[in-house]
Amino acid sequence: MLRNKEYKFWFCTGSQDLYGDECLRNVAEHSQKIVEELNKSGVLPYEVVWKPTLITNALIRKTFNEANADEACAGVITWMHTFSPAKSWILGLQEYRKPLMHLHTQFNEEIPYDSIDMDFMNENQSAHGDREYGHIVSRMGIERKVIVGHWADKNVQERIASWMRTAIGIMESSHIRVMRIADNMRNVAVTEGDKVEAQIKFGWEIDAYPVNEIAECVNDVSKGEIDALVEEYYDKYDIILEGRDPEEFKKHVAVQAGIEIGFEKFLVEKDYHAIVTHFGDLGALKQLPGLAIQRLMEKGYGFGGEGDWKTAAMVRLMKIMTYGMKEAKGTSFMEDYTYNLVPGKEGILQAHMLEVCPSVAEGPIGIKVCPLSMGNREDPARLVYTSKTGPAVATSLIDLGNRFRLIINDVECKKVEKPMPKLPVATAFWTPQPNLATGAEAWILAGGAHHTAFSYDLTAEQMGDWAAAMGIEAVYIDKDTTIRSFKNELRWNEIAFR
Ligand code: MN
Repeated sequence: MLRNKEYKFWFCTGSQDLYGDECLRNVAEHSQKIVEELNKSGVLPYEVVWKPTLITNALIRKTFNEANADEACAGVITWMHTFSPAKSWILGLQEYRKPLMHLHTQFNEEIPYDSIDMDFMNENQSAHGDREYGHIVSRMGIERKVIVGHWADKNVQERIASWMRTAIGIMESSHIRVMRIADNMRNVAVTEGDKVEAQIKFGWEIDAYPVNEIAECVNDVSKGEIDALVEEYYDKYDIILEGRDPEEFKKHVAVQAGIEIGFEKFLVEKDYHAIVTHFGDLGALKQLPGLAIQRLMEKGYGFGGEGDWKTAAMVRLMKIMTYGMKEAKGTSFMEDYTYNLVPGKEGILQAHMLEVCPSVAEGPIGIKVCPLSMGNREDPARLVYTSKTGPAVATSLIDLGNRFRLIINDVECKKVEKPMPKLPVATAFWTPQPNLATGAEAWILAGGAHHTAFSYDLTAEQMGDWAAAMGIEAVYIDKDTTIRSFKNELRWNEIAFR
């Protein structure tokens, strides 16, 4: 289901005609070489396309407008090889609407001590020209990414690659459509929000459908389709009966297969990419969608529990940003559930009633059928497993009434010390940075939710850059967080984001 467009990024080099034709020939040759090598590096997830050197006001304006119009263009990378008087860039930048990166690089890595003369200096003066260009972008208040270093440096290439994924998130955000088949859980505050403002800020379309419309679609799924999918489940997952009758167990699993197929048909037909459910409003559905939602998330759909459309859209967004990543470790909806407060072993056990994406799983995945203490439906089937270890990022988008805030927490995922044989849900376990006490205190001061959109494959920098491009507040909780400075940051942001 998750398929991104064949996006490309344009590489635009700035210069001027003051230094003669030979210099301009070299500039073009150098930038072509950089583009060629970046594409050959194998580090970038998307292709870079070379564009002719920009030396006039008219050409700059024309190129930026062509970038706007080209659906395949996800952003422009700019670099001033020589000096490019920045007033020439004003009109083009004013009209440009896509992600912008300023690659502050230089063709040569080292000063050629023996041969350097004034011609060389004039030709290779990005230290000079990029400052002139950077000045005008800052003066115009345009959000952009600045990446500094030699273009052949692996670290620089990795930063470009990482930014490209942010740019895809910026481009694709306005294509996210969330289907709500239930309203938000009654009386819950943090999952609520202004859907009109979310469309204005992020481009998200968030629509509601009566739950029984989708339930009808589930009812219409044929027995043949259900049997085939159940067979796939039984091939792929461990069946953990725990004393239940095998036939009765299979019937419960089949209900989730019907939900998976019916839901996906409904989503595809109506072109939605994320979905929310609510255990208290299931209409004619026989079970809370558990295994079905877990599988849909694995296919790339966003999800939020209890009507949480903000988290559903964020999960979808983060899945898009990680699209096609080699050795991806997974992206999921999560919920902070229970603490381990033992000194030295502090952490938060993450789970949900059922719905955690199996992309984060490590080791075997099993199916269990167990009662659900909430709601009034039959025992739902669900996938159970534990999650991978390592660094990850947990995000929470909240609506403060006058604005959105994205809270971004670096977390360290760990294995729990012992198995939890009686817990019938998929779990993760993490310690927030800088430690549980400070991380949780900062999270609570910032108003972060219990629901998060979580990924092993994205960084705080990427999520913060996405938020900046959306024009919203972002706060980071990481190894450098102290409560005193964090409280000040929140206080100052009240003014900055008014
Ligand atoms: Mn929940």
